[in-house]
Amino acid sequence: MKVFKFGGASINSVDRFKNTAKIIQSFTGEKMLIVISAMGKTTNALESVVNAFFDGRKEDALLLFDQLKKNHLDTIKYLMVSNWQQAENQLKEFFTEIEWLLHDKPIRNYDYYYDQIVCCGELFSSSILSNYLEEQQVKTKWLDVRDIIRTDDHFRDATIDWDFTKTTMQSTITPLFDEYDVVVTQGFIGSTDANESTTLGREGSDYSAAVFANGLNGNSVTIWKDVDAVMSADPKKYPDATIIHALSFTEVIEMAYYGAQVIHPKTIKPLQNKNIPLFVKSFLAPNLEGTKISREISKNLPPIIVNKEKQVLIQFKSKDFSFVEDKPIHQLHALFNSIRIKPNLSQNTAISLLRCFDDHSEKIDLLAQAATELFDVELERNLTLLTIRHYNENAIAQLTKGKKILLEQKTTDTVQMLMRE
Ligand code: ASP
Ligand code: MG
Repeated sequence: MKVFKFGGASINSVDRFKNTAKIIQSFTGEKMLIVISAMGKTTNALESVVNAFFDGRKEDALLLFDQLKKNHLDTIKYLMVSNWQQAENQLKEFFTEIEWLLHDKPIRNYDYYYDQIVCCGELFSSSILSNYLEEQQVKTKWLDVRDIIRTDDHFRDATIDWDFTKTTMQSTITPLFDEYDVVVTQGFIGSTDANESTTLGREGSDYSAAVFANGLNGNSVTIWKDVDAVMSADPKKYPDATIIHALSFTEVIEMAYYGAQVIHPKTIKPLQNKNIPLFVKSFLAPNLEGTKISREISKNLPPIIVNKEKQVLIQFKSKDFSFVEDKPIHQLHALFNSIRIKPNLSQNTAISLLRCFDDHSEKIDLLAQAATELFDVELERNLTLLTIRHYNENAIAQLTKGKKILLEQKTTDTVQMLMRE
């Protein structure tokens, strides 16, 4: 059994839905579990619905939701012939569920409502794909993943209950493959034991695909994207970026850790644990080789470049020029934890601590404010954190030309430099 994950860009129009179905049909004879994201930018649009609802702007929330309904209804109208009515009925059931909620007043916290509302993007798109595949004579079963992936109630960043999830996957999905060739379900979402919807964190569908492959002992996972393969850098910024055909799990974990937006960072572990290879392929050019990520050690890798913009450097300086002691360091780290913010780079000197963060401005302001009790705080914004894996002097010289380096850290594999333009 293969697991395929299709992201939002692969189903953002009628033609793209058709293209996705064609790819699936080209694997006829295989058993496939298809994990699907919300169409195009639907998740962002749903976030606006949540914000309006939670601010008490009910009319705005309903209007924004109407727009999304229309997008999806238009899509099925132009996509399907015989299954159109069936698809519409299913969509309308989901619409009703959300509209009921939008007519209420918020009494629980933001994250709870976020998950109850945002989860519908994947329900809509998966039901469209499933109805279309069925119309194309593919033996397809649609599944509500909320009956399968069980999580805790940490809304917006839920943790999977692996025991329940694996057992349910095996008892409900494995027998389905006797009758069906394709099972279509949703990425990114799950449910608590109280049947409340949860989400696994933005861009979490890659992770869902890995969870399925692990739970069902899949042969492989393929993530279909709008790029030819994993590249050594963002080709929009670095024209010299090259395609990488093979990467090890460990390399990808490192890349994701430094901020490369290749694959959701949680995706690798469930695959690595069971030695299930992960392919990244282009849905626009499915015949291209793409990238294989597996246990095999990657050799001769080119310098891999990860650029994180909008960084802020904070200096926490001892107030009286004395050495920074352990206690204030612990207190500072406790503060990071409570604000839920993690440094991307850290360096200590005798009298100051340097920490670089993504500039989530509200959190940063809160941190800077709170830390003044312990330290003198200085802050510089608009910096770039450049990471080069498998660096060479040439790459460093080229990428730092004309920039001021404020902080640098080097190991044998990796160099990181915090830079001002
Ligand atoms: N639709 C969700 C998002 O946009 C999940 C995903 O695409 O993986 O974050
Ligand atoms: Mg996506």
